[in-house]
Amino acid sequence: MIISIASGKGGTGKTFVATNLALSLKSDVQLLDCDVEEPNAHLFIRPVIEEVITATTPVPEVDEGKCTLCRKCSEICQFKAIVVIGQIVLVFPELCHSCGGCVEVCPEGAISETGRELGVIERGHRNGLEFVHGKLRVGEAMSPPLIRKVRSFTNPDKLTIIDAPPGTSCPVIASTKGADFVLLVTEPTPFGLHDLKLMVEAIKILEIPHGLVINRSGIGDNQVKAYAEKENIPLLMEIPFDRGIAESYSRGELLVEVMPEWKERFLGLYHLIEEVLK
Ligand code: SF4
Ligand code: SF4
Repeated sequence: MIISIASGKGGTGKTFVATNLALSLKSDVQLLDCDVEEPNAHLFIRPVIEEVITATTPVPEVDEGKCTLCRKCSEICQFKAIVVIGQIVLVFPELCHSCGGCVEVCPEGAISETGRELGVIERGHRNGLEFVHGKLRVGEAMSPPLIRKVRSFTNPDKLTIIDAPPGTSCPVIASTKGADFVLLVTEPTPFGLHDLKLMVEAIKILEIPHGLVINRSGIGDNQVKAYAEKENIPLLMEIPFDRGIAESYSRGELLVEVMPEWKERFLGLYHLIEEVLK
């Protein structure tokens, strides 16, 4: 099973839920941190890193000796990543989406592929928990290719928890598409409600079963609960706004370790997810 943990906005406690849930489960679990622009699950998990892999994506390289300037490559490219200007073919690797279209259509076989570095993937473990995360290269504009590479380490024999990036755009879709369940984490404020609504619309399009965790329950108002009720989104857990929880989080501690009674509550959250999926 793949559970993706998402939130419309940053700072709602998504990583807090993902890391504590992952450490509470007894089965074979892997945690994939797909927030590749700003991964932070490792700060709480503190895994032993065993492997660092440079991730690349294929981009075209033109052999000027073979090129006849026919323009077929620039005509097929939807991203203006390869263009013919005068007597030369220019490639803009940062705009390339690695679709391979230009390589396919070149009648002269003048285009080969070379790698553009996306960032690194680090793999490791903490006791029985497998951990994988990606770190996007500074200056790299597209995170979905690296997110897909992190997800390629999904082990179908394990329970996979994905810590998705915040927001509702392509990186979130790349982190939630194909998941069996999306756990939405929000806070009971007008901002939380606004971004939750956007996220729910995206999840509906993907047709993935989903449920809600309200973090910092007790602040704000009841509008998130009212919205969840109206939309038939099951409220699976509430985490109170509590100074002790906030302090342990700010120290980089895992709640289920400093307050072991929470382990049962996160296990209960998992069982509720199983119930929803039934
Ligand atoms: S691989 Fe696709 S996106 Fe990249 S330059 Fe070729 S056609 Fe354009
Ligand atoms: S399709 Fe091939 S031959 Fe035609 S312009 Fe592009 S690189 Fe040159």
